[in-house]
Amino acid sequence: MEKKPLYHFLPGSKLLSFGTVGCNFDCAFCQNYTTTQVNKNASSLDWVINRYSQKITPKDLVDLALSQKAAGIAYTYNEPAVFVEFARDTAKIAKRHGLKNVYVSNGFESPEAFEYMHGLIDAVNVDLKSFRPEFYLTVCKARLEPVLENIRSFFTAGIHTEITTLLIPGENDSPPELTDIASFIRSVSPDIPWHISAFFPAYRLTDIPPTSYSSMLSAYRIGQKAGLRYIYLGNVRDPQKSATYCPGCGQTLIDRQTYRTSLKNFSPDSGTCPRCGEEIAGVWH
Ligand SMILES: [Zn+2]
Repeated sequence: MEKKPLYHFLPGSKLLSFGTVGCNFDCAFCQNYTTTQVNKNASSLDWVINRYSQKITPKDLVDLALSQKAAGIAYTYNEPAVFVEFARDTAKIAKRHGLKNVYVSNGFESPEAFEYMHGLIDAVNVDLKSFRPEFYLTVCKARLEPVLENIRSFFTAGIHTEITTLLIPGENDSPPELTDIASFIRSVSPDIPWHISAFFPAYRLTDIPPTSYSSMLSAYRIGQKAGLRYIYLGNVRDPQKSATYCPGCGQTLIDRQTYRTSLKNFSPDSGTCPRCGEEIAGVWH
């Protein structure tokens, strides 16, 4: 669950993750480009299909998740909207068996694709990659506005929502842009966790260095200043910045060390801080 990343949803539980090929974005920095972009080249698609793919039905996936004692299924690695029919068939069977459905999304779903999954998604992590329309247009070959709309829609539909921003040096890490991103999240809800993730060179962005720790820290502080209550640094080793603190009294509630999660002073049954009684937003049990 933490690897998605979802930090405020059934902490420490197992998920069965799966994806297909293709994406409705073409991000220059895609970390999964060997599968997300492969269908744009017929010969490499054949290669991937022959080498890696397997035929699997929605029921097979659910059976596999149940046999692995997973809490749910994650639709991830590539944008689930591109296989929304398969996602829906799987999610319906999963739900009947008490499994949770977790979407990891770029937020670029049409209203029809969003409605098609109505009542089936329990939690989502949406990438908010920038706050500039021209970044979405030129770097991702996509549009910003539908992503913002869908983040609002996911949240107001009662789906547990967390946001991830990959911090790319010189591309989307200016303080004004990060302030805009954090303020937008705050305007939807200050309780939405914001994951700031370090960039590593990939795909077409191989001439940009990895994100520095000081830049990560500065984004973290911008999130705090904007009034977000839960901010996390990802892809860097800093247990202090991946722990959950009580926004009321500052008490450490959940510790995370490279995907080992320990509920230090936190009882998931109550979902509140044991020291000051503050309610901690999330789905804890
Ligand atoms: Zn507290």
